[in-house]
Amino acid sequence: MTDPTPIPLSVPTIEGNAWEYVKQCLDTGWISSAGKYVGDFESAIAELAGAPHAVATVNGTAALQIALQVAGVLPGEGVFVPNLTFVASANAVSHLHAVPVFVDAERDGWQLDLDLFEDHLANKCEPLERGVRAPGGLIVTAVMPVHVLGNIGDIKRLCALAEQYRLTVVEDSTEALGSTSGNQSAGIFGRLGTFSFNGNKILSTGGGGMIVTADEALAKRAKHLTTTAKTQAAEYFHDEVGYNYRLVNVLAAIGLSQAEVFSKTLQTRRAIEGRYRSALSSVGDIKFAQVRAEVNPNGWLTTFTTEHMRPLLASLQSAKIECRPMWVPMNQLPMYADKTYVRNSDVSGELYRQCISIPSSGNLTDEQAGRVIAHITDFFERAA
Ligand SMILES: *Cc1c(COP(=O)(O)O)cnc(C)c1O
Repeated sequence: MTDPTPIPLSVPTIEGNAWEYVKQCLDTGWISSAGKYVGDFESAIAELAGAPHAVATVNGTAALQIALQVAGVLPGEGVFVPNLTFVASANAVSHLHAVPVFVDAERDGWQLDLDLFEDHLANKCEPLERGVRAPGGLIVTAVMPVHVLGNIGDIKRLCALAEQYRLTVVEDSTEALGSTSGNQSAGIFGRLGTFSFNGNKILSTGGGGMIVTADEALAKRAKHLTTTAKTQAAEYFHDEVGYNYRLVNVLAAIGLSQAEVFSKTLQTRRAIEGRYRSALSSVGDIKFAQVRAEVNPNGWLTTFTTEHMRPLLASLQSAKIECRPMWVPMNQLPMYADKTYVRNSDVSGELYRQCISIPSSGNLTDEQAGRVIAHITDFFERAA
């Protein structure tokens, strides 16, 4: 048998004006932190997300850290974070010297469990003027909903709970560019939202991030903090401890070119996910995340659960089809094992044992998708 060509999990598609814009940076020497593409890319993302303001950052983790800081989270305070997320959500809280408080996921849509969260707030926490006092005394002032894999939970209910308990909402919408709930884009439900343009994300600059918000003052402060807190362009006067969290012009140029073709990207990713769902939904014990009626996910990374996840993963990998398990839940990581984990059972642990992500690149061909589907279908026929 001939060696099959590898199918990657999720790789960026370089198309549109990317070459022209990058060449322009190189030709003019504007490759670093000044240059026109940063502003243009910020405007493009603001428009895509329907957000009045956007601030580019070096990556999504930095965007989250600064969003939390300008939202008013102080060192030593707690932030509710889903236990089932990529480690950067929790790390951003830690980088601010705040404390993540993990909340379990719900079984159907894999997002933060709002029944559990409401019960915890109502019966275990003491409401304060700002935030709540959690059991053990930690004062928690914010909640970070993560739109896991581009899906969105009952975000209206989460925001209503946050308002009731005076928690600030900072959205980790890093995986959800283009996802909508009730025709409103991910990233603009909370006080601030964040995006990531890391290599595997739906829009990629190689590395990069963005903060979006409706609040002009918060956007200005985020820009200030991410650009070394310099007060005048020509003088080295800085009025607080800032960060060098800028996105450079070359990467913003790549981002702008991708933002220009993003509606096509969304269409493609959604079509791939749609094809997988209709071909695989009744195969073996495969279950996809449930999508709420008002939600239209971006189709970033197709993922499903099966009790046979490990053998299926090994089988796909031996056929050079790149697949991944879900993230190890935060409570199982050594640096977070001693933090509070709000739960009834351990749905995140169960999802971790069962979830597998399959190739979802925008340039996945029909033939490649067919090969993935055939391999999975065969696997379950053999397993039965
Ligand atoms: C990608 C990602 C981030 C962080 O983005 P980087 O750009 O890699 O720093 C944060 N949270 C989640 C859920 C992510 O998937």
